[in-house]
Amino acid sequence: MGTDTNPFNSLQEQIDEAAVYLDVGDDVIERLKHPERVLETNLTIERDDGELERFKAFRSQFNGDRGPYKGGIRYHPGVTRDEVKALSGWMVYKCATVGIPYGGGKGGIVIDPDEYSETELERLTRAFATELRPLIGEDRDIPAPDVNTGQREMNWIKDTYETLENTTAPGVITGKAIDSGGSEGRVEATGRSTVIAAREAFDYLGEDVSDATVAVQGYGNAGWIAAKLVAEMGATVVAASDSSGGVYAEDGLDPVAVKDHKRETGSVVGFEGADEEITNEDVLTLDVDLLIPAALENAIDEELAHDVKADVISEAANGPITPNGDAVLAEKDVYVIPDILANAGGVTVSYFEWVQNRQRFHWSEERVNDELETIIVDAFDALTDTYEENDLASFRTAAYVVAIQRVADAYEQAGSFP
Ligand code: NAD
Repeated sequence: MGTDTNPFNSLQEQIDEAAVYLDVGDDVIERLKHPERVLETNLTIERDDGELERFKAFRSQFNGDRGPYKGGIRYHPGVTRDEVKALSGWMVYKCATVGIPYGGGKGGIVIDPDEYSETELERLTRAFATELRPLIGEDRDIPAPDVNTGQREMNWIKDTYETLENTTAPGVITGKAIDSGGSEGRVEATGRSTVIAAREAFDYLGEDVSDATVAVQGYGNAGWIAAKLVAEMGATVVAASDSSGGVYAEDGLDPVAVKDHKRETGSVVGFEGADEEITNEDVLTLDVDLLIPAALENAIDEELAHDVKADVISEAANGPITPNGDAVLAEKDVYVIPDILANAGGVTVSYFEWVQNRQRFHWSEERVNDELETIIVDAFDALTDTYEENDLASFRTAAYVVAIQRVADAYEQAGSFP
């Protein structure tokens, strides 16, 4: 992994860039650049054929100054210790950007889940939950879904934790199914904030998102919902991709029909309503008004950034642009809405789910969506003020300036122990 593509280096560079504009000591900044602790564990489970197999897994608790650690669990062959550390740090600054009372954590298992049966994945998830048990809890660390995990895995983790602790603790995890204590609106929340932030950005630029053409890279949970919701706002989704390739239609794709096709065949490729098939790279470099990267980190590096033609990028994925890529986009005046704002809907509605679990109460979908809208719009406005007041080069730096100050304030108010 090169320096520019190591996500942990990216995180640290992003913090350094913002630190210049902050009245926070270097010693405190140094503290805010490293995780408090990282669990590295080896999980051994029995395959369906009776053979044992070992999997490496991690949980990073980056910072707990503003509240319990919070962040997803990813199942992917590319998971590394540094990736998990970076993702846990981004969670800290994401929660601070939108002002919800959490710190940041993240976990992952090095696995390609497509290669395993449901019973094997259940054993593995329960093995991980058993390892996590001393670290997690409703007031300590609250995991959630991420790439290749969803309600099913969250329900298993909750059940394992509750069984071992001999209690009920639905707030130990978020992203659960509704009947297991999940929240209305959680599945859609990440895509929803991605497009709310995009709508605000177009408005800020004196334009209307309903007139925009849109390309979506990564047609999973975050990407497909963003496509559906932005189309509902009147925009035209002209391209979508997944790990197998992309599709393009000049007059617009029907996002729901593309999703149905992916559900049936495993990919967006081959969708009959498309004019043509294009590559993943083509999707990122199309001449569109809005680009939504919704796959993994490092999709847009320095080289690719030169070819990006979108006017606005709303980062549904975490860390999709490398720092060098960011610099090129800033020079080209591409307006990038950073991940720690754009995709913060996921953790915000996770927070609502946790609040409902603590209250033993269930909110309506309308209430969830209204509260989410308020939080994202307020956060967008706070970032805009900081961006203008400090004459900053990027909206990302504005987000880090706001977020780091909030975390540093919480740390300094608490004082250090021992
Ligand atoms: P997911 O597993 O549902 O979807 C990921 C999609 O990306 C899949 O369709 C996959 O085929 C595609 N993909 C992978 N590599 C690709 C490539 N090179 N080119 C194009 N497509 C590719 O995962 P998700 O939950 O939608 O997460 C996607 C991103 O959003 C991640 O960065 C994640 O951290 C971030 N995110 C998700 C949530 C959430 O609530 N799900 C919240 C915040 C951030």
